Parts: sequence; C-alpha cells; structure tokens
Amino acid sequence: MGHPGVLPRRVIEDLEDVAGPHRVVTDPELLVGSLVDWTGRWEGSSPVMLRPRLTSEVAGHLGVLSHHGVPVQFQGGNTGMVGGSVPMGGEVLVSLRDVAGIEEVDERSGQMVVAAGTTLAEVQQTALQSGWRYPVDLGARDTATIGGTVATNAGGVHVLRDGMTRAQVLGLEAVLADGRIMESLRGLDKDNTGYHLPSLFTGSEGTLGAITRVRLRLLPPHDEEAVAMLGFAGLDAAIEAVGQLRRHFDVQAIEIMLEDVLELVVDHLGVSLPLSRAWPVVLLVEAAGTAGVVDRLASVVHDGSDPDEVVVASDRAGRQRLWAHRDAHSVAISTLGVPTKLDVTVPQGRVAAFIGEVREAVVADGASQAWIFGHAGDGNLHVNLTGPEPAGLADHILHLVVDAGGSVSAEHGIGRDKVDWLGACRGPGELQVFRMVKDALDPAGRLNPGVLFG
Ligand SMILES: Cc1cc2nc3c(=O)[nH]c(=O)nc-3n(C[C@H](O)[C@H](O)[C@H](O)COP(=O)(O)OP(=O)(O)OC[C@H]3O[C@@H](n4cnc5c(N)ncnc54)[C@H](O)[C@@H]3O)c2cc1C
Repeated sequence: MGHPGVLPRRVIEDLEDVAGPHRVVTDPELLVGSLVDWTGRWEGSSPVMLRPRLTSEVAGHLGVLSHHGVPVQFQGGNTGMVGGSVPMGGEVLVSLRDVAGIEEVDERSGQMVVAAGTTLAEVQQTALQSGWRYPVDLGARDTATIGGTVATNAGGVHVLRDGMTRAQVLGLEAVLADGRIMESLRGLDKDNTGYHLPSLFTGSEGTLGAITRVRLRLLPPHDEEAVAMLGFAGLDAAIEAVGQLRRHFDVQAIEIMLEDVLELVVDHLGVSLPLSRAWPVVLLVEAAGTAGVVDRLASVVHDGSDPDEVVVASDRAGRQRLWAHRDAHSVAISTLGVPTKLDVTVPQGRVAAFIGEVREAVVADGASQAWIFGHAGDGNLHVNLTGPEPAGLADHILHLVVDAGGSVSAEHGIGRDKVDWLGACRGPGELQVFRMVKDALDPAGRLNPGVLFG
C-alpha cells in the first residue's frame, strides 16, 4: 500500500467492482461530514468512503482492502464520544449505515434480527409495535446505529435495571479483516457449546471486524411508566436518596443533573425548569412496570428519598418534557465549544466526594470549567471540561478516578481518547489476551488502527 490517504486507481476499481461505483464515494465534499466526530475534537482524512448495503458487499470490500493491504476505519452513526469513529491515519472509511433494516421479529420468543446500520430509535419503535421493548436507550438514539452500540457496548439510561448492550446481544454476524463472514446468529436461550463469539465482538470497537447483523433480546413492555424530577439543596442528600431509591424500588433510571449544567440546558432549549426554583442538585428518576408503578414511585420519592421538591409525570408528554432536560445535556455543553469528555465510574460511596474533588481541581487549574452530569444509579459521571485545552487537568481527574477504585471509561469505550489509560484499568494478563485476540483476528493491524491499542 502506498502513502496513507492516497489510494491507487486499481484499488478503487477493484472496490467499484464489488457493488458498483456509487458505493465508492471519492468526492471530498460528500466525505467531509464523516471525517469529524460528534464532539468536534477528532478530525481525520480519507481518500474514500465505502457505503455497502449487504453483508456480501461488506465482505467484498474488506476482501479487496485486505488483498491490497489497505487500513480500514469503520463508522456507524458517528455519535461516539472517544474519537474511535473517524479515520485519523488516512484509512479507507467503511460506513455501515446503509447495511440497514429490520430483518425478523420473533414475537413469540422476543427476539429481533437487525442489520447493523439500523438506528437505535427504529429498533426501539419496532420492538414496541411488536408488543416488546428494546431496553437500551441514550440521547443519540435517532442517529446511533445498532452496530455502533454493539461495537461500543453502549450503556445509556437503563443500565441500572436492564444491563448494558452486551446483555441484549444474543447473536451476531461479522465480516472479518480478510472478508470472511462469521455468522453466530442462532440466539438459543441455552447453547453451551464453547466460546460465545457475539460477546467477543460486543465492545470490540471495530478492532476485530465489521458487525453486520445482530440478534437482539427483547424484554416485555411496561404497563405504566412514571418519571420524577427531584430537587435537592445538597449533593450528600441527593446521593443518599439514590441509595434509598435503589433499596426500596426497582427503578430503571436515576440521572443526576447539577444546577450549572441545567442552567445551560434551559437556555439552550428555551424552556423553564419544571421545578419552582433552581436546586443545586436534581435527580431524574424513572420507574416502569406493572399497574400501580406510578403511585408507588410517587410514594417512594416522597417518603423514601427526602427531596426538597418533587414533580412527577406519568403521561407521555409530561415524561418526555422531564427527560428533555437530561437528553439535552451533551448538546447544551457543546454550545460552549469543544469539550474534553471524561466518562468515568466511581464507586457509589465516592460519587459526592469525587464531584467535590473535580471542582477543587478545576478551581486550582484556574482556566477550565467542569460540567458534570451522569447516570447516578450506577456511579457513572460524565465530566466535560471546557475552556482552554486543560493541560494535565484531564489526566489529574482520571488519576482521581483510578485512586477511587473507579474506571476511566464507564460506557463510551476506549477509542483513541483513552488508549494511554487502558493499562490503569486492566491487568497485564488481560492486556496480553487482548493483544493475542487482536493479532489472531487482525494480524496486519489494519482494522481501526489506533483504537483501543494505540
Ligand atoms: C447526545 C449523545 C448522548 C449519548 N449518550 C450515551 C449514553 O448514554 N451511553 C453511551 O454508552 N453512549 C452514549 N453516547 C455515545 C454514542 O451514542 C454511543 O457510543 C453509540 O454506541 C455509538 O454508535 P454509532 O453508531 O454512532 O457508532 P460510531 O460513533 O460510528 O462508532 C463508534 C465505534 O464503533 C465502531 N463501529 C461502529 N459501527 C460498527 C460496526 N457496524 N462494526 C464494527 N465497528 C463499528 C466505530 O469504528 C467506532 O470505533 C451518546 C452520544 C451522544 C451524541
């Protein structure tokens, strides 16, 4: 292969032979939107974007690229937060967005087979229309693809009760580095016949192959849903309430929002806060289940969690109105510029102290601001740093996370952003096996170079 970022004409012609020239995009103007990631921090370059529609076309494209020794960058909806979705070394961009569509819904067993480029929102809607529910949910639902959520093992707001994406992946099809297809889509509830290959690809961040189809587990729908917004005068009381709510009630989401970010959010949305005043800490609590859940949530938030103010919504419009405040957090922060994003978990008992330590570090830094929110129910905080590039501050905060016994990536993955920190969270034995798996499936290191391994 010649200079990275320049593709010889004969390679382009071989790629065009696979699925036609219109699946091989070389016009720079059509490529430009796919070369910058959602955060705006990562901007790459690529000579070509491939847009296959079928597994066989993905296989054909990857076969050609393997034959010519060309590095590859996979992309789904490009909503990833850790710089893993754009070609930073001039790799050929393989977009999986057009490998899309719901292939099968098994209404008896509650399973669905979908192509990787299908959006999360479409999967959620189809599941509901079929009398089931797909539990993974996150703010980027309209753009993020199922392939991307599987590749990153996305978390989202319902992890607390329903688990991360991995818990929903029953089967999977992937195209390997040399174009071979690995199909493991059976999806039997019980199948104890060796390695569970769908799990290996879940969370692999495109380093082992292109995910093309997924068999998803669906859950029963809810009879009733309710959302409560709780205002607290202090952080300690709010964190105490998180524990109380988890102990007394099977909540499916507890999100934490702080006064400064909420101020940005209401400005951005042009709405007023649903509470009578701004509180230093606001929890958004969602409960769903069988009939009576609305009344149970209302009584638990009043009696069990001791908030200073509560608003409860059970109708769809009311619930969406409360959730809109949480969903808009990332977008509202991005209006301030390109943030440095840290997605961390700390043990529940350390959440309040950690937020205090981050605030102290930012004051000491003097130049940056920290905007914090997250999934309080599982100790997952998103720390967004804005202002001048905060030299050393991000590393200092990640050291605080490690010292607290936490993880430097709760749900966004490692991407290129956190590569230097992988060793702080995984032991030498684990990293050796990571490397052995990568070398076995991608011996030339052509898939998503720089992602996960650096
Ligand atoms: C507003 C907003 C809110 C978000 N909230 C959450 C949240 O709550 N929880 C959370 O976990 N994430 C969240 N995210 C991050 C993001 O949405 C997820 O990481 C999502 O899973 C990425 O999906 P995607 O299709 O956009 O993938 P991309 O961003 O395109 O890619 C992400 C990674 O997966 C790889 N990849 C993508 N598709 C494939 C495929 N088919 N085969 C192999 N590799 C592939 C890419 O190479 C890259 O390494 C949020 C993002 C935004 C913008």
